[in-house]
Amino acid sequence: MKKLLFAPVIAVLLILSSCSKKDSDDSPVVLDPITIELKGNDAMQFVGTTDFNVKSGQDINLKLTHIGQLPKEVMGHNVVVLKPGTNLDEFASIAFQAKDNDYIPATFASSIVAYTKLLGPGESDSIKFKIETPGVYNFVCSFPGHYGTMRGTITVK
Ligand code: ZN
Repeated sequence: MKKLLFAPVIAVLLILSSCSKKDSDDSPVVLDPITIELKGNDAMQFVGTTDFNVKSGQDINLKLTHIGQLPKEVMGHNVVVLKPGTNLDEFASIAFQAKDNDYIPATFASSIVAYTKLLGPGESDSIKFKIETPGVYNFVCSFPGHYGTMRGTITVK
C-alpha cells in the first residue's frame, strides 16, 4: 500500500522537474561581448573596417587609437556614436563650435549614444556600451572637418 501512496508524489516531482527544465531552455541567450577597434590616422581616416554588426543588448567594447603623429590641436580624433536619424551635417556644424567640450556638443546630448575622449598621437581610449534598439547607428569623428571622411556604422539587429 505504501508504494501506491508515493506514486502520485513521484509523478508530481517529474512534472515539476520537466517544467523547470523547459524554463531554463527559454531563458535569453548570453551574448559574448563584441570588440570594435578603430584607428585614426593623419589623413583624417579610420583605417580598416568601419561598418560593424552587433546584436541588440550585446556588450560593445569600442577602442579608438590615434596612430598618427600630428598634434591633437590640428589632428585630434574621437568617435561619437549617434542615434539613427541624427542629421550628421547639423551635428558636425554644432560640434565644430564645442571646442571647450572636446567637440561634444551639449545640445546634441540626446542624440549621442556613446563617445570616446578626444585623442592626440599615440593615445587610445576604450569605452563600453550597449544598444538595445535595432537600427543603423552612424559614428563620426567630431573634430572640425573630419566627419566627412571619418565615419562608419554600427548596425544593431
Ligand atoms: Zn578626427
